[in-house]
Amino acid sequence: MFRKVHIYLTALCAGITTAILIVMSLLYLYLSEKELYENQFRSFQNDINTIATSLEQQSVISMEWLSKMEAHGGYTFYALDNGIPFLYNRLTNLSESSEIRSLLDECLEVYESDYEIGFREETGADSYNTCHHVEFPFNPSGKKHEFHISVIELQRGTSSLQILVLSPLDFLREQITRQRMRFLLIDIAAILLLSLFSFFFTGKLLQPVIESRRKQTEFVAAASHELRTPLAVILSAAECCRDADTEKQSRFLDTIRQEGDILTSLVNDMLTLSASDSQRFTCRPAPVELDTLLINTYEAFEPIAAEKELSLSITLPEESLPLCTADADRIVQLLSILLHNAVSYTPEGGHIGLALSHKKNRFYLTVSDTGIGIPPDDRKKIFDRFYRAEKSRGTKGHFGLGLSIAAEIVRLHHGTISVADRPGGGSVFTVIL
Ligand code: ADP
Repeated sequence: MFRKVHIYLTALCAGITTAILIVMSLLYLYLSEKELYENQFRSFQNDINTIATSLEQQSVISMEWLSKMEAHGGYTFYALDNGIPFLYNRLTNLSESSEIRSLLDECLEVYESDYEIGFREETGADSYNTCHHVEFPFNPSGKKHEFHISVIELQRGTSSLQILVLSPLDFLREQITRQRMRFLLIDIAAILLLSLFSFFFTGKLLQPVIESRRKQTEFVAAASHELRTPLAVILSAAECCRDADTEKQSRFLDTIRQEGDILTSLVNDMLTLSASDSQRFTCRPAPVELDTLLINTYEAFEPIAAEKELSLSITLPEESLPLCTADADRIVQLLSILLHNAVSYTPEGGHIGLALSHKKNRFYLTVSDTGIGIPPDDRKKIFDRFYRAEKSRGTKGHFGLGLSIAAEIVRLHHGTISVADRPGGGSVFTVIL
């Protein structure tokens, strides 16, 4: 299932970033190409201005000057003197090539229909030596080539000279194609990298979800396993009750009652952890006298410890302590879990110590015992749900949930909990608040 989600998220992430990349690239290309065209057109207009001024000043237009101008700007000139091709064109055979001839005709047609300035009519026959020119882009039909065209109209007395200047845009087109290819390659490389990044990124994003799902599955499996044993005992005791005499019946009923209590405590622990998972496990901090809280817990556990022939001691600081901001009920719950474990995992005749100290604005709560101890490898794992160290697996009524709840309570108080070996055997749990 997660594989599918991973692939879907990768595709979604890569798709969105790719779409953004492509839109941005196209936008950039559009703006940059537009600017290239405009710059080219502006520089063409500037050249034509210079050429027109120079033409105006020349009394005779020399072939040498025309060929120099053509070579300088990469332009092609086509001049008509009173409608007759200029000698220069005849010499360069320009008007002889049918392809160029039709191009020039088409160009003149466009000029006459869209751009002609009406020069002759406006100025009249009186004006002598006047010049007008117009520039426009030209895309001949059926051809890939594009041009910038200028038509210069020069009136000298009764003679009129029309000069067509063609500036092919092949170089600009090549430049644009090169730029597009560069962008295409960069975009392909970026899309590949983005897809790779999306794959790892979404994988990392999914990791906590996968982990939480794994823990949930493990939790359900472990919970079902733990529920099965007391349920099986209850069912078989109930079955035996049917044919048993009154004395045996009462023993079976006691067993059912005990297992029922165990089940209740297990279900309560599971509900507590489920509340913590869904953020419903709250804590209501208030100023608390921790020493009083410890004394009360000590007194509550004294008979339990005595029943198992364990000695229980309490150590409190001499000086009076400041109030601690904590949830009193949760702290009692935490101490009860630690003391309950200490009683369970300490053999008869052992000792359990409860202590409180205050250093550098921190409260240190410790529960130590002279019990079976916890192997170093297990010390991190014992705070995991349903984890139980090998040595304590047989202990009845223990499901490996107590320390998980203790860790949650400490987390709610922004404190820390740790476990260490007690010198001389046993363990010491330290809670810092
Ligand atoms: P449990 O209900 O099994 O005690 P906990 O979460 O409270 O569950 O503890 C997890 C495991 O940590 C226990 O099963 C036990 O192996 C180990 N443990 C906890 N407290 C002690 C202790 N005081 N001495 C030795 N082992 C302990």
